[in-house]
Amino acid sequence: MRVYISADMEGISGVVHPSQIDPNGSDYLRGRRLQTGDVNAAIEGALQAGASEVIVNDSHWVQRNILLEDLHPCARLISGSTKRLGMVHGVEGADLALFIGYHAKHGTPYAIADHTWSSSCVDDLRLNGHSIGEFALNAYICGYFGVPVVMASGDQALENEAKALIPGIQVAVVKLATGRWAAECLPLSESRKLIRSCAKEAVSVRNIQPLSPPSPCEVELDLMVTEMADRAEYVPGVHRIGGRTIGFECEDIIKAFEMFRTVVNAASLFTPF
Ligand SMILES: [Zn+2]
Repeated sequence: MRVYISADMEGISGVVHPSQIDPNGSDYLRGRRLQTGDVNAAIEGALQAGASEVIVNDSHWVQRNILLEDLHPCARLISGSTKRLGMVHGVEGADLALFIGYHAKHGTPYAIADHTWSSSCVDDLRLNGHSIGEFALNAYICGYFGVPVVMASGDQALENEAKALIPGIQVAVVKLATGRWAAECLPLSESRKLIRSCAKEAVSVRNIQPLSPPSPCEVELDLMVTEMADRAEYVPGVHRIGGRTIGFECEDIIKAFEMFRTVVNAASLFTPF
C-alpha cells in the first residue's frame, strides 16, 4: 500500500508565527524540526497500519523545509519547488493521501496563517461558485488521480474546512488558534501521539472515497489590488470580472490549477504601493 504525504508548515505543532515558517525567519530551523517531527509521526502511523511505501512531498514555500537527515528512514522525500503539481506533486499512483500541517483558507477567523496559496496576492478563490482554500484545491487534484485524502493535521479552523469537504476524514487538531498568529498548542508528545493515531486509523479503515473534481472548472479569483488583476488579465484565456476579480474556464482541475498558478505568478509582479 502506497501512502502519500503532502506536508505544509503553518498547521504544524507549535507553529504560530512567520518567524518559524519563513526561510529567512529567526526561528525557521526550529520550524523545520517541528515539521519533520509531525511528518515522522504520520509516517509511523501509516507504517503501523500496513503501508509498504511512504512518499513525502515538502509543500511549503521553498519546499526544502523537511530535514532529510531526521526524516523516518522508511520514507522517500520530494524536496524542491519546481514541481508541476505543486503541493501534491507525485500523488499519482498512491492509494491514499495525508495532508500534514495544513491551514485554513484566506479570510477564516481564528486560524493560524489563514491564506490561499499566496498571502500577498489571493483574497479569494472560487471553483464553480464555491470559495475554496489550499486544502480543497489539493484534495480535488488528488481526487482527479483517484486518490482519497483520508487524514489531515492542523488547527481547529483547518479541521472545520476539511470536515466540511470530506465528511469522515480523520483530523489531528494539534493547536487551537485564538487569532492569525496565536494558538494554544498541545504538548509535542501529545500532538505527535494524536497524529500517529489518526494516521494509523485513517490508513487502516480506508473508508473515504476520492473526491470528484468538477468538470469543466469555472474559476474566479479575487486579487488583493487592481494592478494584480491588470497583470493577470494579460494571460491568454483570462477575462476581467471586476476591479480586483478575474476569471477563466478550464476543462479539468489540472488545467485549472496550472492556470491558477500562472495567473498568480503574473499578479505577483505588482508594484507595492
Ligand atoms: Zn505553507
